[in-house]
Amino acid sequence: MAQETMSFQAEVKQLLHLMIHSLYSNKEIFLRELVSNASDAADKLRFEAIANSALYENDPNLRIRVAFDKAARTVTIDDNGIGMSRDEAVSHLGTIAKSGTKEFFGKLSGDQQKDAALIGQFGVGFYSGFIVADRITVESRRAGLPASEGVRWESAGEGDFSVETIERAQRGTTITLHLREGEDDLLSAWKLKTIIQKYSDHVALPILMQKEEWDQEKGEMVAKDEDETVNQASALWTRSKNEITDEQYQQFYQHLAHDSQDPLAWTHNRVEGRSEYTQLLYVPAHAPFDLWNRDHRGGLKLYVKRVFIMDDAEQLLPSYLRFVKGVVDSSDLPLNVSREILQESRDVRAIRDGVTKRVLSVLEELANAQGDAEATDEAKAKYATFWTEFGQVLKEGIGEDHANRDRIAKLLRFASTHNDSGEQNVSLADYVARMKPEQTKIYYVTADTWQAAKNSPHLEVFRKKGVEVLLLTDRVDEWMLSFLTEFDGKPLASVARGDLDLGALDDAEKEQQEKVNEELKPLVERMKGALKDKAKDVRLTFRLTDSPSCLVADDGDMSGYLQRMLKAAGQQAPTFQPILEVNPEHPLVKALNTDSAEFSDWCHLLFDQALLAEGGSLEDPASFVKRTNALLLAKAG
Ligand code: ADP
Ligand code: MG
Repeated sequence: MAQETMSFQAEVKQLLHLMIHSLYSNKEIFLRELVSNASDAADKLRFEAIANSALYENDPNLRIRVAFDKAARTVTIDDNGIGMSRDEAVSHLGTIAKSGTKEFFGKLSGDQQKDAALIGQFGVGFYSGFIVADRITVESRRAGLPASEGVRWESAGEGDFSVETIERAQRGTTITLHLREGEDDLLSAWKLKTIIQKYSDHVALPILMQKEEWDQEKGEMVAKDEDETVNQASALWTRSKNEITDEQYQQFYQHLAHDSQDPLAWTHNRVEGRSEYTQLLYVPAHAPFDLWNRDHRGGLKLYVKRVFIMDDAEQLLPSYLRFVKGVVDSSDLPLNVSREILQESRDVRAIRDGVTKRVLSVLEELANAQGDAEATDEAKAKYATFWTEFGQVLKEGIGEDHANRDRIAKLLRFASTHNDSGEQNVSLADYVARMKPEQTKIYYVTADTWQAAKNSPHLEVFRKKGVEVLLLTDRVDEWMLSFLTEFDGKPLASVARGDLDLGALDDAEKEQQEKVNEELKPLVERMKGALKDKAKDVRLTFRLTDSPSCLVADDGDMSGYLQRMLKAAGQQAPTFQPILEVNPEHPLVKALNTDSAEFSDWCHLLFDQALLAEGGSLEDPASFVKRTNALLLAKAG
């Protein structure tokens, strides 16, 4: 077929532009990306060859070769992996198929430094070649296709690329980078080797380069007619722990996760017994941009007896641990497993349970280091970092993983009235240890923001009595709390729900309160009448000190906060009318006069204020304004 010129997808153009300008200071990563693609291509060939060994075409020794040509000013990365057909070259090198592409572009800020970090996480891949090259030529042939169906793809990394069909005997892909002006330092075996060892040492495939030797006469390095392997070329996780340095673990992580930061922690071990497998699991130091994407499947690669089987094997990890990156290499699973088989397999269930326990142990260790006087400052800070990045995801585990609920509950951290910083650093165990002797429940309030939670009128009585309240402001909290009803035998109780029963905490005041209740009964009855369309009930409360009124949800009803959240998420929420509680000690309430013409307006004002104070929005703001102004005017006389 003749040469054809095609246009890049718009996103590719944008990515290319960004990358060339913002990743320039870290340009060496292009080699890591291209070697990683070559290694993926070898994995794919090995996997397809399980069913069809003819794909090896008498060339079964998979390898990557890196070479350079000083005269032509090119660097070449060559593999004998799966290769690409013409159609594949067009779609794989002309569009971005990655899930989360939309989120990624949405997150770009225009700030070069921030965007560079994001691009790194996104996995810049093939296009990073254009950081150092002003033209890239790709020649490829897919394994199994005839030599006449090779493809040449070429682009200058601007708007478009060309493709043509070529004759190509060799299976696999050769990528030639025509270097930009000023990139000549890459035309050196030493330089390329250094970059490979820095970023690609752990690639399980041999990376070959032509051997060079010092020539005394010429006074320079000269190429020999033989190859040498320049990386370790063995799968890191198959080596024994004491042979692996921290640095090697970290580099392997960076390769797996496309992350330029080191992980917070890792665990590497071999599990023997009914199900045998090796696991190498990492907890990253920051969340990827697509953690909240529904398709985000997590980052475990599945190998079977060192043969790569699949990326993102979500069956190996519960969804609330989807931030974990790593490798599981099973000795028992069949090589031809599919995602469907994985779902059914008992071995996979055993692996998932094992992986889950392992990750929870790692998190427990991080959490313990936080309170350990012997630990370094760096070790102490790790759990807080983890919590900030992934705490909301871990909370999903309370609902999802019944078997480990208690362990997960211990790992939770909350903001609380105990500290003023708003930091989520109070554990349920901390809370229980600080409970008043006569206190029986763990109290919490939920709101949209920490500010709103902290200033909630519902907290007034707790502040007065010095009782700590947890301040919950994450979206998953209400949902999580429907599964977490107690901790350490103490029930969790919302301060904004039902009849506030502080138990022994306010026994002494009960009698006095009964009396007030009796006295103000007629007032409360009149208020119920005035608010019958808005409030399920009206009653006096002793939980307020500074505010005249607040709203509470009846026992068994959905809280106003949850109703608003569901509505915001576009879901149909049933409507529950709240109960209005009024503070008999407040001057506004004391001044209420059931005979006055404005009585009904005052009742509505007390209700609307309470709704605003808890972050709700008024159904009829115009009437609120009108009423308020009328009352103000009446006061002004
Ligand atoms: P990713 O590796 O994350 O998929 P890349 O931009 O690195 O993204 O690569 C895009 C796609 O191009 C790959 O998914 C693969 O299908 C194809 N590709 C790139 N390099 C090679 C190669 N050496 N051999 C075969 N296919 C390749
Ligand atoms: Mg890639």
